Amino acid sequence: MAYFCDLKRMENKIKTFSKFGDAGHGGITRYALSKEDEMARDEFVKRMTAIGAKIEVDDLANMYATIEGSDPKAKRIVMGSHCDSVKNGGNYDGILGVMSAMEVLETVVEKKIPHKHPLTAMIWTNEEGSLYPPAIMTSGMVVYDYLPDNIKPSVEYNKMMASVNVLDGKTTYKEALSKFKYVGPKSNRLSRDKYVCNFETHIEQGPILEDAGNEIGVVDCVLGMFNYRLEFHGQTTHAGTFPMNKRRDALYAASLALIELHKKVDELGHPELVYTTGEIVCHPDVHTCVPDYVNFSLDVRHEDPKVLAKVLSIVKSFDGKEFAKCTCKVVPMWNRDTVYWDKNLVKFVKESCEELGVKHQYIHSGAGHDAQFVSYMLPTTMVFVQSKKGLSHCEEEYSDPKHCMLGASVMLNAVLKADKYYE
Ligand SMILES: [Zn+2]
Repeated sequence: MAYFCDLKRMENKIKTFSKFGDAGHGGITRYALSKEDEMARDEFVKRMTAIGAKIEVDDLANMYATIEGSDPKAKRIVMGSHCDSVKNGGNYDGILGVMSAMEVLETVVEKKIPHKHPLTAMIWTNEEGSLYPPAIMTSGMVVYDYLPDNIKPSVEYNKMMASVNVLDGKTTYKEALSKFKYVGPKSNRLSRDKYVCNFETHIEQGPILEDAGNEIGVVDCVLGMFNYRLEFHGQTTHAGTFPMNKRRDALYAASLALIELHKKVDELGHPELVYTTGEIVCHPDVHTCVPDYVNFSLDVRHEDPKVLAKVLSIVKSFDGKEFAKCTCKVVPMWNRDTVYWDKNLVKFVKESCEELGVKHQYIHSGAGHDAQFVSYMLPTTMVFVQSKKGLSHCEEEYSDPKHCMLGASVMLNAVLKADKYYE
């Protein structure tokens, strides 16, 4: 038997949570560990307590609401996401996963759906890292012991606690955490001892589902990616006095390199490959000076490591090359391999879509999520909900309430299949 969640209750949650951090023009600014974050957690506690869930908090302010199952010895099945946002973000990124987990618990209690395992709805702290970088911070800390050695340094506990508020330039993450309303013992953290598998529902944040006319995405992996910076060294001279043919303009050199890079990468002909230059540093960044130094970021993502390797060899071929009399230096930043979700859980999500008659397709996740870290500790998968026009990390971010309800319903039925599958 397949169960649906409640559209009205889901809509009510979306409306209510959109108030916490309402920026006044349709979206929210809800930084981690802020007053607005606290308000969202208050609402979570209120609604989860109302259905008889037990509330726990760990030392990193991650929150857990659990309803018991019929087997007192069984481990918990967890569903979670984050409730923080970027500056002037939307009402769905992250919080939809929390609301979907709440909706699953509420439906199970309301319809008295039998289940053996305890079910937990969870909030991860500081996924966006908007105020305290990096992104996906606390899930990384919680699963630290299971991470590959090359990833560990990026989420090391002491380093994270020393992360400084980007707005005031002085408050550390540790200080903010010590003042936050919801902090508990480390023993409450997600662990293999207490939990058996993990689900995360999230908005797609891209246009693929909408363009294909599908409501839900059965996510199979998070794309592998690499990050490089390309540096260009030139000479600063006066904008009015120095002739063009003698200049070593680092910004012009960087532009030529970027265009050549695009041309060469596009010639590879991989339609699913995505690559982005989103950040540029220009020195001295003064309108009367020819720039003497420029570097730009390059973020490249694809499922297949062989395709990434081909792009990487193009990128590396730029090292030492001259553009407009400036030398290019290629500097590696970091990389991650494609993370595949648990095959059984992916199958449960797919079967649930079929049983509910939901329009769906397989899809990769191009963005990183808490689930990606959790997958190093527990069998994990994700459910994607269609995003209107693919917009995200902006106030126009929108998902149809019906699709949100269907996402929660798909997760509910997949959770019930996992409940039968695991001991
Ligand atoms: Zn998110």
